[in-house]
Amino acid sequence: MRNISCLGSLENPVPCVALCPAGVDIPSYISLVKEGRYADAVRLIRKDNPFPTACAYICEHPCEARCRRGMVDDALNIRGLKRYAVDNAGDVPQPRCAPSTGKKIAVIGGGPGGLSAAYYLVLMGHHVAIYEKRQKLGGMMRYGIPSYRFPREKLDAEIESILSLGIEVHTGVKVGNEISFEELKANYDCLYISIGAHTDKKVGIEGEDSIGVISAVEMLGKIGDDEMPDFTGQNVVVVGGGNVAMDVTRSAIRLGAKKVTCVYRRRQEDMTAQAEEVEGAIAEGAEILPLHAPLRIEEGAGHHVTALWAQPQIIGEHDKANRPRPNTASVEPVRLPADTIIVAIGQGIESHGLEEAGVKLQRSGALVARPDTQLPNMEAVFAGGDCVTGPATVIRAIAAGKAAAANIDEYLGFHHEITVDVKVSAPLCSDLRPRGRVNPSEREASERKCDFNCIECGMTHEEAVQEEGRCLRCDYFGYGSFKGGRVEKW
Ligand SMILES: Cc1cc2nc3c(=O)[nH]c(=O)nc-3n(C[C@H](O)[C@H](O)[C@H](O)COP(=O)(O)OP(=O)(O)OC[C@H]3O[C@@H](n4cnc5c(N)ncnc54)[C@H](O)[C@@H]3O)c2cc1C
Ligand code: SF4
Repeated sequence: MRNISCLGSLENPVPCVALCPAGVDIPSYISLVKEGRYADAVRLIRKDNPFPTACAYICEHPCEARCRRGMVDDALNIRGLKRYAVDNAGDVPQPRCAPSTGKKIAVIGGGPGGLSAAYYLVLMGHHVAIYEKRQKLGGMMRYGIPSYRFPREKLDAEIESILSLGIEVHTGVKVGNEISFEELKANYDCLYISIGAHTDKKVGIEGEDSIGVISAVEMLGKIGDDEMPDFTGQNVVVVGGGNVAMDVTRSAIRLGAKKVTCVYRRRQEDMTAQAEEVEGAIAEGAEILPLHAPLRIEEGAGHHVTALWAQPQIIGEHDKANRPRPNTASVEPVRLPADTIIVAIGQGIESHGLEEAGVKLQRSGALVARPDTQLPNMEAVFAGGDCVTGPATVIRAIAAGKAAAANIDEYLGFHHEITVDVKVSAPLCSDLRPRGRVNPSEREASERKCDFNCIECGMTHEEAVQEEGRCLRCDYFGYGSFKGGRVEKW
């Protein structure tokens, strides 16, 4: 609205589609779920996102932020409906690949970004080889996100399905060690770098190298390799206030800790972790200690950590990012007994081997890439995902991989388009009375905190039917045009 007039036009995008970084046709797959065509819903999603299952479980669903249903009652539970589709679709075969182009592409890093680029490139008929330094593919979906949020068997099945297209995989091969960047450049027509953000950031306080001080990345990485740390009977202190801090807090509870305290320097409402993650951790017995900044780490016999000293804070004026700044309060520091301290204050990018090969870096250490994902100073090399943006989300890495695939294809002189032959019926919106949103239900806290099994329960059929009925099908009705929907004025 401007000057009391609506500026809406047919060019206005459908809000959920516009806010999905991968541009998934959300109203159409909701419509397919409504018709019980779950496998078709999965096929439609895969056209833009090869990880429907991963996103059904752990996507941070930016698509819901401006859902028009919010003007009536509340945003649609889009992720929940996607989960209903994938849970009921069964095994959905992948589409056929285009005829071979004879071109070879190497993808460095087997996370969601690298796998997405590989998926679309191989569908376009190119030969793709992934080089992954760890023993298994999946990136932070395996070596970060705990299995109680995304079950490993679901991740394995989704990766297997992607690889079934005929992608060559080299695991346990670190580019920069086992094979050089230059060697890959010489042997392939194009490279896609998608190495994520895997180094841990340090707090920078005395005693940080004591035994028993570990990083969140290190701990979750071990869990990803099925090496479960044993915290039985321990006092565990977590430093940080983001989603990663919540993941290690909740994992430490499941690994037997007697007490887990999450120390954060701002207020609880300023934590960047999703509110439901914080509430979930508290329900499982974690303590959140807001307005305390880590001061120093105390060590005892054998250089083993014995406590974290924390300085109480007072909340202050807003900083440049418009977040209230914590300032030192005129109160004595407090001692928090600790057998293990887990530092979860962010990750950096390990560009070893790439910088020496001439890849340009930003001041933050992230790679410099153009919006089309090509490196500005290097022919035939593209990059995307966390290693370019800094730590972000799975769907953003997928979107970068998809964009890279399209641009690599163009660079190699082709113009393949990924299509799907799923027909979507015209909508019938009959019941638009305000109605509550169906939120995901969870297993009881006392039960779930004892294992790494999935916390969230999927929707029941009754819930899914009610929730999909709330979609306003903005692709057909009201302003906004989209493929398959209304493309002309009345
Ligand atoms: C604890 C945790 C929880 C998270 N939870 C969520 C969530 O709930 N929802 C969400 O959307 N996002 C979440 N994220 C963020 C998300 O996982 C990442 O944004 C996403 O995985 C980035 O994808 P990527 O492909 O760019 O990088 P990554 O997933 O990091 O994959 C990069 C891959 O490259 C490999 N690699 C690195 N260097 C080399 C090399 N030199 N040679 C070969 N291989 C190499 C790595 O081993 C890794 O497998 C979470 C992250 C963490 C750490
Ligand atoms: S009502 Fe449906 S089509 Fe409209 S923004 Fe929400 S999910 Fe998308």
